[in-house]
Amino acid sequence: ADPLVSAVHRILTHADATRRLKVRTNADTGEDAARARRFGAQGIGLCRTEHMFLGERRALVERLILAGTPQERDAALAELLPLQRDDFVELFRQMRDLPVTVRLIDPPLHEFLPPLEDLAVKVAVAEERGQDPGHDKDLLDAVRRMHEENPMLGLRGVRLGLVIPGLFAMQVRAIVEAAAQVDGARPEIMVPLVGAVQELETIRAEAEKIIGEHDVDVKIGTMIEVPRAALTAGDIAQAADFFSFGTNDLTQMGWGFSRDDVEGAFFWRYLELGIFGVSPFESIDRDGVGRLVRIAVDEGRAARPELHFGVCGEHGGDPESVHFFHEVGLDYVSCSPFRVPVARLEAGRAAVAEQSTSDTR
Ligand code: PEP
Ligand code: MG
Repeated sequence: ADPLVSAVHRILTHADATRRLKVRTNADTGEDAARARRFGAQGIGLCRTEHMFLGERRALVERLILAGTPQERDAALAELLPLQRDDFVELFRQMRDLPVTVRLIDPPLHEFLPPLEDLAVKVAVAEERGQDPGHDKDLLDAVRRMHEENPMLGLRGVRLGLVIPGLFAMQVRAIVEAAAQVDGARPEIMVPLVGAVQELETIRAEAEKIIGEHDVDVKIGTMIEVPRAALTAGDIAQAADFFSFGTNDLTQMGWGFSRDDVEGAFFWRYLELGIFGVSPFESIDRDGVGRLVRIAVDEGRAARPELHFGVCGEHGGDPESVHFFHEVGLDYVSCSPFRVPVARLEAGRAAVAEQSTSDTR
């Protein structure tokens, strides 16, 4: 055996024996789940379900969005259901006996439709040629109807679940039906972008009805990724079995920095001024965004001592941030498969560091 590999193995085994934080992975394919498991992941902390609506399934999402009647909408959802079920069966198999947190669909639905300009051109060309643009015209109308100047602050996450009847229910059904098919499946359902307990209560009631029809145990929790969720964590805890911090959005909304395009324009100046040493999207901003995390942990735990806490933003695999999450008392971090070993190591180091400070006290 390679002596370096066995040395790393020994170090990680030691870190595992020492750490308090569990390490899960962000994965939404069986392949990623299997890889992460080989790296030592103790479950999936975030399965983003949005990719499951791309590719050939786009056509079904289009039908869902264009549906003129409840019947048409339900027909599209009924076709999506078995596809989703198969996605989850695969993940539950790969993560047998370990928790798999499935996040209900998060991004704005129009992301699944073609861009407005492309469609407008297509329709204009067809009309100019005297052809009937038919389906494209309907799509164009839908894209226009759904247009938002700020889609990341718009109709996404839990808001989709609240306004599109049956969408979240279809996903919940797919999760419980998949779980019933796989021995050792441990599904958890996570609701994105919650900012008020009433949002979570509404989705929870709908989900519990479906879960109750099956003989499975499914925890229901929420992302804490909107500042208001952190500030009202005591209320939100009443409807949640777990909190998972979405530190990407929490950083975006905490600082008011766009995740998608802000860094190049002015971060250099912030670095120059020493406002931060590295981007707050990379390493947790302890004093600001981190404070929101602390508030949510303290108030959530006070309201509901059995609540579980994790983090599934990019920070979950960042060494410095892992130390912070240990200090705050989270139960797990979740990160991309390749960062799992580093997170295991840093979680171990955080526990050792805590031990040695308490020894010298
Ligand atoms: C987050 O916001 O931190 C998160 C994990 O969700 P996403 O990155 O998918 O928005
Ligand atoms: Mg998010």
